[in-house]
Amino acid sequence: MQTNRLGKSGLMVSRLCYGTLTMSPLQKDLSPEAGARLLIHAYERGVRFLDTADLYGTYPHIRLALREAPDYVVSTKAYCWDEPTAAAALERAFRGIGRDYVDLFMLHEQESLYTLRGHEEALVYLQKQKERGHIGAVGVSTHYVACVRAAPRFPMIDVIHPLINRAGIGIQDGTREDMEDAIRAARAHNIGIFAMKPLGGGHLIADNRAALQYAIDSPLLDSVAMGMQSVQEIDADVAAFEGDLRLLDALKDRPRQIMVHDWCEGCGKCAERCRQKAISIVDGRARVDPEKCVFCGYCARACPQFCIKVV
Ligand code: SF4
Ligand code: SF4
Repeated sequence: MQTNRLGKSGLMVSRLCYGTLTMSPLQKDLSPEAGARLLIHAYERGVRFLDTADLYGTYPHIRLALREAPDYVVSTKAYCWDEPTAAAALERAFRGIGRDYVDLFMLHEQESLYTLRGHEEALVYLQKQKERGHIGAVGVSTHYVACVRAAPRFPMIDVIHPLINRAGIGIQDGTREDMEDAIRAARAHNIGIFAMKPLGGGHLIADNRAALQYAIDSPLLDSVAMGMQSVQEIDADVAAFEGDLRLLDALKDRPRQIMVHDWCEGCGKCAERCRQKAISIVDGRARVDPEKCVFCGYCARACPQFCIKVV
């Protein structure tokens, strides 16, 4: 497995990053033990980078995995906008993974210069924690070209975790080419880039070879986060990143789905939460537009009735 330097962060990461959203309660809902087993299997296959979030609920899985896979570079992200919210999120990460250090800590779902300015106090706090040795690097995650364009104005940002894929699915304010241009500009400032959603949240599964080939071949991406829910998926994705895409064919017939159970009360909280604007309330129930949905599962966490599930 190829290892790359994640820009000015200096972190050395495997080209394939283990995205843990898919094992979280928002999606497959694996037990910590089952999730840890998968993380350890990927580690044994050469994966040395994993990504999670405050939101995902996978800190227990990671904590268990780190006992046998101690050299994972751990990335997490959280919604925080000032010093108290950032301090609380960082403390949750420390307690969750059982360490007093996180390799990469990012602000989750940033959108533009304005949201970055609005969250600058949190960035400054994280930079101070980096100087004190509690964080290895500071970053932002985003589905927006505007955020990638604006990030170099903030010298404390070492890493960007942008959404990009062959078809540009899920990019909120432009095309794949727009995102590539913005990433190129960020890289010129030595910002590390690790991509999310190379399969467009599942929309590109039918042509997964072409989708992964794009991500693998891109010189703009230091690492690529893939959600993996089984040993078979891990083996196929590791093989693909090592040049053999044949095992991907067996994964093509597993399209993602989002279900809204019939006890939905139509409160609209899921629609407010969905940044893809994929949910509308029709006849008193949530209805998801599958063309817009990227199967992130974030709406599931927002539902007070627990009636949304990504499978
Ligand atoms: S948040 Fe839950 S109950 Fe409310 S509209 Fe969405 S699915 Fe229905
Ligand atoms: S509908 Fe839910 S799963 Fe789909 S993009 Fe919106 S928040 Fe994510």
